[in-house]
Amino acid sequence: MKVTEHIKNAKKTLFSFEILPPLKGISIQSIYTSLDPLMEFNPSFVDVTYHREEFVYKKRADGLLERRSVRKRPGTVGICAAIMNKYQVDTVPHIICGGFSKEETENALIDLDFLGIDNVLVLRGDPIKSETYFSAEQDGHKYASELLGQVHEMNNGIYLDEELKSSAPTNFCIGVAGYPEKHFEAPNMRSDIHFLKKKVEAGADYIVTQMFFDNQQYFDFVNLCQENDITIPIIPGIKPMSTKKQLTLLPQRFHLNVPNPLVDQVLKCKTNEAIRQVGVEWAIQQTKELIEFGAPCIHFYTMGKSDNVQKIVGSFA
Ligand code: FAD
Repeated sequence: MKVTEHIKNAKKTLFSFEILPPLKGISIQSIYTSLDPLMEFNPSFVDVTYHREEFVYKKRADGLLERRSVRKRPGTVGICAAIMNKYQVDTVPHIICGGFSKEETENALIDLDFLGIDNVLVLRGDPIKSETYFSAEQDGHKYASELLGQVHEMNNGIYLDEELKSSAPTNFCIGVAGYPEKHFEAPNMRSDIHFLKKKVEAGADYIVTQMFFDNQQYFDFVNLCQENDITIPIIPGIKPMSTKKQLTLLPQRFHLNVPNPLVDQVLKCKTNEAIRQVGVEWAIQQTKELIEFGAPCIHFYTMGKSDNVQKIVGSFA
């Protein structure tokens, strides 16, 4: 079922989870072990992130460096199919511009369509570590809105090969990313909202936000979207703080602010266990307020660890 159908049919705020594919070589069982305890909460859908290749330099026998492309995590098609098959839950594979030509994207979408996966979260992807700015493949997409255009075309039966006869339209529900604290490259919020609106005009069905720790950021973002006639559902993304390191790592990686009271509480903790507890309590409070606000669904970033998300969602069961 499509994410938008789940939202339309819901009588209360829904829950969804986001997981990472395991590192290459680790079995699918690791995913099941972290998802098993979450499935009792009947998530409406499970997102699976996409991780593009990285480049590493290996020293050759002659002393010169050789540049090699390494994929640390497998793609999303197999893992989404495995999760759907095991739990009969809808999955949302993330598809990105980075590292993909238009043809490779088309092939991935065909596979997903054949598997009965009818949701995708369409993203640009970040620059790879060796790049300052994102660069698209020669025959790839530069922005999420362009990739979205390709999915939208396929939903209308238009494939890359114009000579295809009787091409079957796909039927993907298309999600996109939104940034309550602004995307880090956008010169200001007005510009970011302008391009978010372009994604909506290009056919986006719903928005999932970047994580935030201050709900006011989400409330303001929703209001700003409404002022700009963006009326599709906006799903807040929540991540429980779980280590002291994340106080600096999350702002650096995701370009967000951590409110003073949360920073103070984490800094007072003497053990990792105590920090996890602070993170859980903070996220429970966030979730409570978001439900009261009328958020359509709360999307939890598990980042491979589910015990804290289990405690948060469990307190609303
Ligand atoms: P876009 O919407 O293309 O926007 C990128 C930037 O360009 C913004 O600053 C925007 O304002 C600007 N812009 C957009 N269109 C134009 C235009 N036509 N001209 C000029 N400027 C423009 N990354 C992964 O690699 N894998 C994942 O699985 C993944 N999952 C994510 C899930 C969520 C919910 C979120 C919020 C992010 C996720 N990301 C993931 C990270 C995401 O790929 C990065 O944040 C990336 O830098 C931007 O992606 P986007 O889709 O928002 O890009």
